[in-house]
Amino acid sequence: MINLTEHFTLDELVRSAKAFQLGIDNTPPSEVVGRLQATAVMLERIRAHLGVPVIVTSGYRCRQLNQAVGGVTSSDHMLGQAADFIAPGAGTPYQIARSLAPQVSVLGIGQLIYEHLGATAWVHVSTKVPPSPANRVITVTGAGTQLGIQPA
Ligand SMILES: [Zn+2]
Repeated sequence: MINLTEHFTLDELVRSAKAFQLGIDNTPPSEVVGRLQATAVMLERIRAHLGVPVIVTSGYRCRQLNQAVGGVTSSDHMLGQAADFIAPGAGTPYQIARSLAPQVSVLGIGQLIYEHLGATAWVHVSTKVPPSPANRVITVTGAGTQLGIQPA
């Protein structure tokens, strides 16, 4: 068990039920592990802000896994720079995204996305700041992308 930070292990940021199910080897290359460490440090700041445990639902995705889950081809997940999470103790993903949105600079969140697809919602955070500042805090639903955190 490799701890990246006090509350996050490498395994938490790499394991995937989908990869297991499809027999995909999602072992990250060493340069990705370094980025996952930085992602875990960002998650620690988020955890401290929320005051409750953060449950990572998807971290690193190798190309094959990213394709299998329908991720965008430029996904920060493939670089080890992004994580999807829920934190039920702090509210719904929408409430959490609203709480984080004004704090992205303070918390070192490069990009914050409230994602609501089908019946599932989660918060996506990346250490990478997008080239267009308007895309730093967005909402993605089945209907498309909106600026800021919007109710689905
Ligand atoms: Zn994501």
